[in-house]
Amino acid sequence: MSTVDIAHYIAGQAVAGTSGRTQAVTNPATGAVTGQVHLANAAEVAKAVAAAHAAFPAWADTSPLRRARIMFKFLELLNQHKDTLAHMITAEHGKVFTDAQGEVTRGIEIVEFATGIPQLLKGDYTEQVSTGIDNWTMRQPLGVVAGITPFNFPVMVPMWMFPVAIATGNTFVLKPSPLDPSPSLFIADLFKQAGLPDGVFNVVQGDKEAVDALLVHPDVKAISFVGSTPIANYIYETGAHHGKRVQALGGAKNHMVVMPDADIDQAVDALIGAAYGSAGERCMAISVAVLVGDVGEKIMPKLIERTKALKVLDGENLAAEMGPIVTEAARSRIKGYIDAGVAEGAKLLVDGRQFDGKAAGAGCDHGFWLGGTLFDQVTTDMKIYKEEIFGPVLSCVRVPDFAKAVQIINDHEFGNGVSCFTRDGNVAREFARRIQVGMVGINVPIPVPMAWHGFGGWKRSLFGDMHAYGEEGVRFYTKQKSVMQRWPESIGKGAEFVMPTSK
Ligand code: NAD
Repeated sequence: MSTVDIAHYIAGQAVAGTSGRTQAVTNPATGAVTGQVHLANAAEVAKAVAAAHAAFPAWADTSPLRRARIMFKFLELLNQHKDTLAHMITAEHGKVFTDAQGEVTRGIEIVEFATGIPQLLKGDYTEQVSTGIDNWTMRQPLGVVAGITPFNFPVMVPMWMFPVAIATGNTFVLKPSPLDPSPSLFIADLFKQAGLPDGVFNVVQGDKEAVDALLVHPDVKAISFVGSTPIANYIYETGAHHGKRVQALGGAKNHMVVMPDADIDQAVDALIGAAYGSAGERCMAISVAVLVGDVGEKIMPKLIERTKALKVLDGENLAAEMGPIVTEAARSRIKGYIDAGVAEGAKLLVDGRQFDGKAAGAGCDHGFWLGGTLFDQVTTDMKIYKEEIFGPVLSCVRVPDFAKAVQIINDHEFGNGVSCFTRDGNVAREFARRIQVGMVGINVPIPVPMAWHGFGGWKRSLFGDMHAYGEEGVRFYTKQKSVMQRWPESIGKGAEFVMPTSK
């Protein structure tokens, strides 16, 4: 099988890799190597930053309305090529095609938000702060900003960043995950067709070497990162040390509380979809079910039945509910967690390690397959409870009451997403108020906020002050400037030596 050479996109054109380092890209469903992605060195990163730096002054000077018109054109092209992007995601990530379509749509929503940038960039104005003096604020772009993104959403997560960054007048360097790098180049080409000036959006493929080059480059003014917590922590510390503005979104362990008054069938649907959708490789996947009171007895037979019945198939098969795991390394890491859960005494009710790739479709016997896995009687001291597994493994914890459910969630090191299923309005209200988690769902298993609300977790799920996209995104990618103005006719005579106050 022939493989594709996947490299960089700098100053408006595809650029060959020169570092001599490459990494294989695989189709997780079949295990076949489909491409070789080039891994940039510091010199290649410097070229991309230089292109973005050169493009910045003219782009920052372009009126927000004209920037928005390019976004509209880009939006139109994205809508035309939605399915092409979704197929690219399935081919390199493995998630099922309909889920990939959903990913593209959620990314497109941020582009829609960014088309409203003239409204979002409006400043504040106060007339007559003192006699003859007005004061106003405006927000201006930072310069070259970079995005470093994870494998699990190769289209949506970059789109949390660059539409807002570019619409606000910055120029951008994207460093995607080397596991599924192709959509980034396709997007760069669509942007060019939309009329984006060369150098405003650049892509460098790579690994730690490219990331480190971005973190220390003096012309990179801000870094947006999404990935695992240890790397997010590293990016935050290193970027801040080098004087950059940083937002670094990390890992997760999302709980779903099921109260005794909840509709059990709805809760089962929600748990199955949120735990096993995208093979659990979502930062908002539910990986812990917190079963309150007698819920465990009622729900467990249904969870077992549904987990066993999951349609684990090649993602291109439209009947598929769950596809393969992204790499063999990820599959063996997840299997290691299942082994650890058994060793620590959790009750393994459905064992995904038994799944044979042959059942997933023709040509799938060498793919990276796992079935859905279900544990009961998980306790908070177990490794499978404490750590992020990032795979199709659902751990059920039983607690006596609501207070205990809230306490274990608040004690967890992560605080990305959480959900509570109940019919009781007061329980729902108390849950939303008391829970120490950034994104909360009430009878909604995966509460990913809409484009204009912003996305971000708490605790060790986010390092930095600002959430991604929404108005927080606009603030992250701009600096506020305050201007005070008066005109010669209104200036009195003589120097003033006291602190100016309103007159
Ligand atoms: P990852 O941390 O391995 O990689 C993320 C990015 O960092 C990639 O671009 C990668 O090339 C780069 N990177 C990896 N190791 C590095 C190193 N040592 N130094 C510098 N850069 C490095 O994450 P992943 O496996 O690609 O993605 C899965 C993780 O991302 C999960 O932990 C998931 O929870 C998290 N995630 C979080 C969110 C969120 O919004 N909080 C969203 C999606 C994914």
